[in-house]
Amino acid sequence: MENEGRPQKLTNTRVAFEKALRKIIKRKPISSIRNWGISYSLWPVHFTTACCGAEFAATFSPRFDAERFGVLPFVGTRQCNVIFIEGTLTKKMAEAAKVVYQQMPEPKFVLAMGACAIDGGIFWNSYNIVRPHEILPVDAFITGCPPRPEGVLRGLIMTQEKIRKRGTPYPES
Ligand code: SF4
Repeated sequence: MENEGRPQKLTNTRVAFEKALRKIIKRKPISSIRNWGISYSLWPVHFTTACCGAEFAATFSPRFDAERFGVLPFVGTRQCNVIFIEGTLTKKMAEAAKVVYQQMPEPKFVLAMGACAIDGGIFWNSYNIVRPHEILPVDAFITGCPPRPEGVLRGLIMTQEKIRKRGTPYPES
């Protein structure tokens, strides 16, 4: 009988402990360490929409070696936290891009690559083009037609700097 209130007490203690822990990890220096770790753990998903994809592939070749920045392309959407829109985005592929983005875990990032992904490029007045920033929260735009691998690396470095400076949202729980 005297132990009746014990489970409730334990639950209250656990809730209070989790609340305190969440507060602590949102403060410096822990939040800075977290952001630093996220910035060097960017995994772009394999998702090619147009000819800019060839430059994306070249970026991860041994010559340019993007892996030295902690960026590793991967196939599984549920393990990836970056999506590149590689050039032209048609209405059909825009639907696929949205599905892939929704499947990625938080915090996640979007990079739009090439003139076509910025403002339609050579297809600027086409009936079938979607601008990525209209459907996804784009973190960085990479200019060029196509952008050189150095430009892609620059876009990645800018995204890493943004993560370290501004931080990333914490999952709700
Ligand atoms: S920006 Fe140039 S290279 Fe990239 S998808 Fe458009 S036409 Fe192709």
